[in-house]
Amino acid sequence: MKVDFHCHTTASDGSLSPKEIIDLALKHEVTTLAITDHDTTSGYEQALDYANKNNIQLITGVEASCTWNGHTIHIVGLDFDLNNQVLQNGLTSIRELRHERANSMIEKLASKPHIKIENLEDKLWNLVGEGVVGRGHFSQLLQQEGLVKTGQQAFDRYLKKGKPGHVGVTWPDLAEVVDWINQANGIAVIAHPGIYKFTSNKLNRLITDFKEAGGQAMEVVNQPRHCADINGMAERALRNELYASLGSDFHRPEHSWRGLGWLAPMPQTVKPVWELFRSSII
Ligand code: MN
Ligand code: MN
Ligand code: MN
Repeated sequence: MKVDFHCHTTASDGSLSPKEIIDLALKHEVTTLAITDHDTTSGYEQALDYANKNNIQLITGVEASCTWNGHTIHIVGLDFDLNNQVLQNGLTSIRELRHERANSMIEKLASKPHIKIENLEDKLWNLVGEGVVGRGHFSQLLQQEGLVKTGQQAFDRYLKKGKPGHVGVTWPDLAEVVDWINQANGIAVIAHPGIYKFTSNKLNRLITDFKEAGGQAMEVVNQPRHCADINGMAERALRNELYASLGSDFHRPEHSWRGLGWLAPMPQTVKPVWELFRSSII
């Protein structure tokens, strides 16, 4: 058994098509996978038949953006009813917000004389293709145009708060997004809890509010090597009676530090999230 419950395809901001991600799962011997594209289930839908043919167990998944106390938080939804209208309508509303934000970002960047990208708008939408637009696409464009060398530089110089391409957005509230997932009989999971760089107290407050909203799990393993972070998150999950999930957050093969299924084993102490799945995993 080898699982990965967090990855992206061209349906959002990943570089591999849904079919290619199944091929990669086969190559990496991942047996159960959740495609968790940003605010869309289209990648799952496109991959399902091909996954079945290749004996890859595909769990429904999504990574939804929400707002909690002014911060953007990502909530992964797992094993939900794909056709639930509350969830699907909610995801559509987030995609619309993403689209509006992208247009404002294009306008802001294009209005700065020192940022010389010809046909910025066309190039950006060309990169997005069939996907769901996100800041990652802007980061890619800035790298492609030679304005920055790395994704980190793109965020530090152009995209983060206070920088020329930053546009604030208020996503639906945390409680609302958790509720959509629950209404679809799914499991809400706090994605990459370490990424927000919250103090321990603040992370506890997030977890309290998340649980109050009906959230059931948090990601404990996001990386290949066992480390203090994993132990810390495992303890936090235990203390808060949350189930533990794991996922690589794979986006593209060029990110050599993040392979599909490349994950440290789940600590023995926690309850794995798949205990909540409707079918047992293979
Ligand atoms: Mn992404
Ligand atoms: Mn995320
Ligand atoms: Mn992700």
